[in-house]
Formats: sequence, C-alpha cells, structure tokens
Amino acid sequence: MKTLNQFYINGQFVSPQGTDVLDLINPSTKEMIGRVTLGNVKDTQDAIAAAKQAFKSFSRTSVEERSQMLQRLHDAVMANSEALIQGNIEEYGAPLNAAIGRVNLAAADFLRTKEALEEFEFVQYMGKAKVVLEPVGVIGIITPWNASYSQIAAKLASAIAAGCTVVIKPSELSAIQTQLLMESLDQADIPAGVINIINGTGDVVGAELTRHPDIAMISFTGSTHVGKIIRHGVIDTMKRLTLELGGKSPNIILDDADFNKAVPLAVKIAYGNSGQSCIAGSRLIVPRHRLEEVKRLAKAAVEAIKVGDPREKDTVIGPMVTGKQYNNVQRYIKLGMEEGAELVIGGEGHPEGLEQGYFVKPTVFANVTMDMTIAREEIFGPVLSILTYTTEEEAIEMANDTSYGLAAYISSSSLDKANQIASRISSGIVMINGAGPEMKAPFGGSKQSGIGREYGVYGLEECLEPKSITGYDLV
Ligand code: NAD
Repeated sequence: MKTLNQFYINGQFVSPQGTDVLDLINPSTKEMIGRVTLGNVKDTQDAIAAAKQAFKSFSRTSVEERSQMLQRLHDAVMANSEALIQGNIEEYGAPLNAAIGRVNLAAADFLRTKEALEEFEFVQYMGKAKVVLEPVGVIGIITPWNASYSQIAAKLASAIAAGCTVVIKPSELSAIQTQLLMESLDQADIPAGVINIINGTGDVVGAELTRHPDIAMISFTGSTHVGKIIRHGVIDTMKRLTLELGGKSPNIILDDADFNKAVPLAVKIAYGNSGQSCIAGSRLIVPRHRLEEVKRLAKAAVEAIKVGDPREKDTVIGPMVTGKQYNNVQRYIKLGMEEGAELVIGGEGHPEGLEQGYFVKPTVFANVTMDMTIAREEIFGPVLSILTYTTEEEAIEMANDTSYGLAAYISSSSLDKANQIASRISSGIVMINGAGPEMKAPFGGSKQSGIGREYGVYGLEECLEPKSITGYDLV
C-alpha cells in the first residue's frame, strides 16, 4: 500500500495543501494499492508561481544547455526503467512488453526532441525581417492515464527544447506512475522550478491551469469531451492550445492485400495497449465479397491472443484501467448486439478464469454499419467492428465518415493505390501495410481529434512564439 502525498514544486518534494484523497486500485486484482492526496487551487497556484519565476532565466538558456538537459532526462528515465515498468504494470495493467515499450518510448522522446532542437533555427530571415522564435511561456501539461510516461515525456521534451517551464497535471489515476516519474526527473539536475508536477482532479487542478493568466499555453491529451471544456476555458486568457484527443480510426483492407497478413494485423492494431489506445484501428473496412474469409481470419487471430496477467511475458491484453472503463466497454458490447451487429468472437462479461480483475473479452463484430453506435463512438477497449464496401470510393467515404481524424490504416499490395488512398483520408496520421507511427514526424489529429501536433520539430514549434524584427540591421 503506497501513500502518495508529495508534489514536485520548485525542485522540492512538498506536501499538498489539498486534503481530498483518492484510492488507487490494481486493475488486475481490484486490490487497493495506494492512496493519493489530491492538490487544490492553492497547490496549483504555487506550482504556477514557481514555473513563472523559473521562466525568467530558463527562457534565456542556450541550445547547448537545453540539449544536455534533454540527454539527462533520457538518462534519468532509463536509469529508473525497471521501477517505471513495474509501476505501469501494477497501476495501469499494461502487459509487460507494452510497459517496456512505453518506458523506452518516454526516454526516446527526450533524445528525438534533442535532435530536433540541435537542428532547429531559432533565428530566421524573411525579406527585411529577422524572425526570432521565442519560448511561449509557462505551459500547463494535462495528460490521461493510458500512456502516462510517454505523454508527459513528449510534452515536457518539447517545452524544455523551446525554453519553456511547465506545470504538469497527470491523470489522477496514474499517481503511482507519477511518483516514480517525478523521482526520476528529479535526478536529471534540471534548474528548480522548470518542472513542477501536481496530482489532482481535472475540475480542480486542470481547471485552474486552464484559467490562470500566468499559463501561456495548455498542452492537453485526453478525451474530446474534456478537450472542448478546455477550449472554452482558455478563451478569456487567449492561451495557446494543443489538443490531442480521441479517435475512431479506420483500417481499409483493399482486395489486392494479403489477407493472411492484413487481418491478423488489423486485430493487433485494434487491440494495441489493450484497446485503450487513441490510434486504435477500431473500424475495419473490407471488401464485401471477402467478409466470410475476414471473419474466419479475425476469429483465429483473436483466439491466439493471450488475455490475462500483465506481468506475464506473452500477455497481449491486460485489464481495463478501472471498473468504470470495464463497464463502458461492456455497455458498448451490449449496444453492438442490441443494434444488430453480428458477434464473431468475444461478448459481454469476463474471459473465463479472469473474474478477479477488470478483464474484458476481446471482441469482434461483423456486419457493422455506420449508423451503429459502435461504429461512431470511441470505445477505448478491445472491440473491433468490421464494415464492408463494394467499391474503393465507398471505402474511402466510410473511412472519412466520422467526426474524428486521428489515424488511419491501409493494407494493399499496390503501393501506388495505398498512397493514393492515403491522400484522400482525413486524418493526421496514415500507416500503410503495418508501418507504425514515426515519432520524429508530427503526431496529432484533424477534426475532433485535436488541434496542433506533437513530437519532433512540430512539437517544438508549438511551444514557440515568432517575433518579427525589422530594422534590426539599420543604423
Ligand atoms: P479525460 O479527458 O477524461 O482526462 C484527461 C486529463 O484531463 C486527466 O488528467 C483529467 O484529470 C483531466 N481533466 C478532466 N476534466 C478536466 C477539466 N474540466 N479541465 C482540465 N482538465 C481536466 O481522458 P482519459 O479518460 O484520462 O483518457 C482517455 C482519452 O484520451 C481517450 O479519449 C483517448 O482517445 C484520449 N487520448 C488521446 C491521445 C492522442 O494523442 N490523441 C493519446 C492518448 C489518449
């Protein structure tokens, strides 16, 4: 049982002034594993004041200094990787291999951003102007529970590279992981006040960051619903805002694809991060005359997947993060059946023998149509919906028939065709034939999947304010 009652403000571990507490539950066992004290408005204001003070000198540090800091942040995460992995498994239920991947990704975020920083031109010349790219100010970072380390790392890395200071509010459901990350980042010898971290709920700490005049920008990852609340909330102070939100990503398999590869790949893409992934390819769009073959291959692929104890090496799907998330997924599975979709495998309830945790049955529905709720709403669990098309035009239309625009997937043996289709899909990221995302390239969504981009040079630019100076060369 862990007692989490420390925040990280101005380079010190400090006691919260807030007194509310939240129980932390291991989703694999439903056992209580910790209790976190939540911050209040005063805690938030103290963290903002520390970041504001630190910005005065940090904004004037050299590229060389910040580049070394990013290296040290990487090294600090790697030095603590074992503890971070265990925290991710225990508190979030990430399967071991996924947890290892997440920690490595978080560490690599610092190095990739270091590379982008070293190549970046902070002073550019346009016509008669000198354009200087300056750090935007104090950034409020708000993150969800589904990939806590890497989301914090990506946002923090961009802020540090730009010369911005931060106040980080991770998900209150990730408090054990936050504590471990906080202790790791503390070892990186970053100037006091540059990184501040507080636990708390969205409507208290998140709302104060959103409204506070000394926060220049909010970098948010989370649901579209909360993204909209934050967008309303920043109006009065005119903050800059980046929003990385939800998705309902299409995966188009063209008739010429190798279905023996493309269908198992589609299952993997839908079930990544136990289905709790913003880029889950949750709508599989296949040729109508191949449906029976797709159903057979999808069923076989799901049967080969191990759901269970996330500590075991061969587990692919762990529990849902909370009872609330478990119930959400159950609700969608029930709705799928009520609305007339055909259950290929899975269904309601726990997989046999896994009643002790928030485990759900990996589920595949066929004969899904775009008017069904399971085809339109983000489920955030291992539920794959198969839809069919007769013409490729119809497949493209179906792929774009969503309020989201985060990721899309295409399988085809013709690269020409796949690239043509990629150019017609409305989404921030398109992945062809099993290629994963490129974290040096911009990551983010269009439509209600968000505003702005993260990672690499695009992530860095989001944290910079251009200043055009003319007459700089006149005497
Ligand atoms: P959420 O929106 O409920 O919470 C995200 C964060 O916002 C948490 O830290 C929460 O405390 C905070 N928050 C809640 N209410 C707030 C308010 N009124 N003001 C300020 N902050 C507030 O999301 P979640 O359930 O933690 O995460 C799942 C969602 O995140 C999914 O929709 C998923 O698609 C999305 N997500 C998107 C990406 C991406 O890169 N696009 C990545 C991961 C997750």
